[in-house]
Amino acid sequence: MTDKIQAIRGMHDILPQQTPRWQLVETVLRKLMATYGYAEIRLPIVERTELFRRSIGEVTDIVEKEMYTFDDRNGDSLTLRPEGTAGCVRACLEHGLLHNQVHRLWYVGPMFRHERPQKGRYRQFHQLGVEAYGMPGPDIDAELILLTRRIWRELGISEALELQLNSLGSLDERLAYRHHLVDYFGHYRERLDEDSRRRLETNPLRILDSKHPALHEIIEGAPVLKDFLGEQSNSHLQGLMEMLDAAGICFAVNPRLVRGLDYYSQTVFEWVSPRLGAQGTVCAGGRYDGLVEQLGGKPTHAIGFALGMERLITLLDEETEEASGRAHCYMICAGARAEREGALLAERLRDAIPHLKLIVNCGGGSFKSQFRRADKSNADYALILGDDEVSNQAVGIKSLRRDEDQVVVAQAELVSHLRTVLTL
Ligand code: ATP
Ligand code: MG
Repeated sequence: MTDKIQAIRGMHDILPQQTPRWQLVETVLRKLMATYGYAEIRLPIVERTELFRRSIGEVTDIVEKEMYTFDDRNGDSLTLRPEGTAGCVRACLEHGLLHNQVHRLWYVGPMFRHERPQKGRYRQFHQLGVEAYGMPGPDIDAELILLTRRIWRELGISEALELQLNSLGSLDERLAYRHHLVDYFGHYRERLDEDSRRRLETNPLRILDSKHPALHEIIEGAPVLKDFLGEQSNSHLQGLMEMLDAAGICFAVNPRLVRGLDYYSQTVFEWVSPRLGAQGTVCAGGRYDGLVEQLGGKPTHAIGFALGMERLITLLDEETEEASGRAHCYMICAGARAEREGALLAERLRDAIPHLKLIVNCGGGSFKSQFRRADKSNADYALILGDDEVSNQAVGIKSLRRDEDQVVVAQAELVSHLRTVLTL
């Protein structure tokens, strides 16, 4: 036998039994984005490597060790996108969308990072990205957080998520802070892991984001950026907190919250679920006012977040899967005449009831085996068409979920009967 080819480690198929939950989430997201006035943007999955090096930062986990980078056939270095913000800014700059304009954008799709696969951490995963340009905040910062809260509400998972907030201040404030941080971590040099020791020189803020358990205690004692924030940064954070308070959103200020990417400034936030364990961050974002300029544009206010779809979907009830994926009816057609008539009747039903989910048995089979398939399909009702029914212009209807007798309904009455029992 020939060897079977398997999927790449950390890259998963999303099977038919799982897709209803994805579709449900996507439908809710799409609807909410529209109601807040966000427009969809669709971006390539591959970009020049340089774009990510310049935006995410050379000394970050992503750029140092997680990117899927390869040479194109003409020698250009390309990378499968590890996140969406860089590509979104690139596209907006390229098409002149950023100068003196306000934009609210969103996208959803796969991202790629060569990480160690584990629960909640994959090599191909999906993010919803939301970006807002041209607004200094903190009103738009609050809007993004309100929007995320509404996503949790619509999906019935508000209870599972907690909001953490912090300010990364301005570049100058971070530079001042950096000295103190280098000083502090310098005292613990021997206890730092290899990555952190290297970052002590290149990017000490990154150490705060370390997932290394042995460093927790040291990180806990580190100086906090909050003490280095000036008037403007403080009032930005204050303004945001007041709006969140007024909107009844609970949050915790976490002075050690930094983000895994270099381009953030001022507001940063994460929605975390204790239910997910170590990979608990479902949604993370913040302000990145410096990035557009860094990528060759004029200084532009910007803020965004990315929501990890896999982690979000893990939080949904298992029941969602079944309910939203189920067909209404499975049509059993016993005999050649019934097969022919059944296909035509099904088309008429689809014309008359646009939301009807109807599976027609194909490939023949005995009455019994068709019934078994109907059962397995998880449909609510079996529609039964045999010789007798065809001759009488009727259809048998049997509930597959409740213990009810089969009824016979005239084909002429079928549409109104189905509308009633299925409430369509
Ligand atoms: P983490 O701290 O978990 O590594 P990160 O800071 O690298 O996250 P971001 O780049 O901010 O994450 O991505 C935003 C969100 O995307 C995360 O909060 C998470 O929900 C999701 N995410 C990031 N990396 C992965 C991955 N490898 N697999 C699945 N989801 C991911
Ligand atoms: Mg990461």
